[in-house]
Amino acid sequence: MKIRKDYQLQGLNTLRLPSVTSRFATISQPSDILELLNAIDPETLFMLGGGSNVLFAGDYEGTVAHMRIKGIDLIEETDSDVIVQVGAGEDWHTFVTYVVSKNWGGIENMALIPGTVGAAAVQNIAAYGQNIVDVFDSVDAIEVSTGLIKTFTRQECELEYRTSIFKTTLKGKYLITQVRLRLHKNHQLNTDYFMMHVSYDSLQGELKTFAQKPYTIHDVYQAVINIRTRKLPDPDKFPTCGSFFLNPVVSITKLEELQSKMNELQFYPLEQLSYSSPAGLDLKQQEYVKLPAGRLIDELGWRGKTIGNCKVWDKHALIFTHNGKATGKEFLAFTQTINRSVFEEFGVKLESEVVVVG
Ligand SMILES: Cc1cc2nc3c(=O)[nH]c(=O)nc-3n(C[C@H](O)[C@H](O)[C@H](O)COP(=O)(O)OP(=O)(O)OC[C@H]3O[C@@H](n4cnc5c(N)ncnc54)[C@H](O)[C@@H]3O)c2cc1C
Repeated sequence: MKIRKDYQLQGLNTLRLPSVTSRFATISQPSDILELLNAIDPETLFMLGGGSNVLFAGDYEGTVAHMRIKGIDLIEETDSDVIVQVGAGEDWHTFVTYVVSKNWGGIENMALIPGTVGAAAVQNIAAYGQNIVDVFDSVDAIEVSTGLIKTFTRQECELEYRTSIFKTTLKGKYLITQVRLRLHKNHQLNTDYFMMHVSYDSLQGELKTFAQKPYTIHDVYQAVINIRTRKLPDPDKFPTCGSFFLNPVVSITKLEELQSKMNELQFYPLEQLSYSSPAGLDLKQQEYVKLPAGRLIDELGWRGKTIGNCKVWDKHALIFTHNGKATGKEFLAFTQTINRSVFEEFGVKLESEVVVVG
């Protein structure tokens, strides 16, 4: 393992923002982490995966470790399930494609999410009605202060909406090296995902265009790829970090106030992690609900708008991009302007899903 000095990270984050880190190392095996921890101040260590959920706001005075631990191993198999162990540095979409080719179900709706398998566990990624928590078994992680390896069960990881214990109580304290997922051989497909107004996406609508019932795991995987390719920027062509803000939690009173201003304002209960058809949702059962942050931004006419080098994506108001010339500072200021306008109009403060570094 080699430690490089003054390393440029522009090619290692999907926002393509320039940022020089004081030290940089590639982690190909767990022992690289131990070697690195002995050579640097562990307090300044930042673990970088695919860089698809980070915003480098400036240079980084510390050490960036780039997770590249690979490997996919079948470690347990029963009549109904398999447990697969995956290196934290494996590319998530490549792994989903492999799993779908084996006809194992549980992550096919999460095709084409950029990034690594390790970060997928940190972020509790989700898409089109599926969440990694639903197939999560456990992770191995190295404690930064001691170098000891610990296994965390699903319960111990405290996976919630776009977060886990590795983003809260244990932020910066553990580096995930292996992730284990339990996938299903007799899988129940989930095609209920339904999103109104911002993009009118529906998995069933897409499936009808090219597949025939009974749908297969591969059909759902392909439907997700079709929708995402149409709707989202390809990070290889447009700098982006995906959805910038989390969906905000508001009280029922606030929801009713906003509904009086907006048609078809979708919402979902806190315990539910994603949208479904609103039919059957009983408002009286809820004290707080989640709203689509993108809808609030869209309502203010931000979609497609540009300020300086930065822009809101034409097809999705929660996704921001730039023309390749923005600095991290400018991009961050752009997101803050949008956040302020949402607060001024609706009284709702948005929180960033993206990790701001530097
Ligand atoms: C176009 C686009 C679409 C997206 N769509 C979705 C979507 O549908 N659903 C969704 O949930 N997300 C989505 N995202 C967000 C992003 O893909 C996920 O959050 C992804 O899991 C980030 O992975 P990464 O490897 O790039 O993480 P990075 O951005 O490199 O890191 C994210 C965080 O995880 C930490 N981290 C990374 N690896 C480790 C490790 N091994 N151990 C400990 N900490 C670690 C980092 O320190 C950082 O805090 C999208 C992003 C883009 C650009």
